[in-house]
Amino acid sequence: MSYEHLLVAVDLTEECDPVIKRAMKLAEPTGAKVSLVHIVEPMAMAFGGDVPMDLSQLQQQQFDQAKERMQRLFLKYPGIQHGDLHLTYGQPRQEIHQLAKEHNCDLIVVGSHGRHGLALLLGSTANDVLHGAPCDVLAVRLLKKD
Ligand code: AMP
Repeated sequence: MSYEHLLVAVDLTEECDPVIKRAMKLAEPTGAKVSLVHIVEPMAMAFGGDVPMDLSQLQQQQFDQAKERMQRLFLKYPGIQHGDLHLTYGQPRQEIHQLAKEHNCDLIVVGSHGRHGLALLLGSTANDVLHGAPCDVLAVRLLKKD
């Protein structure tokens, strides 16, 4: 059985390249569709929800910057259609699962740093996405930088 629609979760750092490349390689022989998703986490969420200042302008800047980076990825990877780029606010796990369900994706692709020790306790997006995923999940091992 081959996959038909891969959903690649991108953090928009340079680390997303190996993750996208792996997904494209996997999709190539069967002509499977590849979609990209990035989630902008609400700043108030990152600061614990109770911030005594207006973060809306900063949040908008963050969203605009993410949009620009998504556009750059679109230009870099011609196999991806513009309509298959998804940029949304929220919590990564929840939004990735939701999108995978809505678009009938059969494989979610994420990067994984293979954390261990204390870093493992802090959790990772790859781990988080795996739990309760509506389809298969591929964790692409990212090499550590010194
Ligand atoms: P992390 O565990 O946060 O280091 O991220 C590992 C992988 O999770 C990344 O390579 C992406 O595949 C995915 N990821 C992390 N943050 C996001 C995000 N905000 N939106 C989409 N995917 C993300």
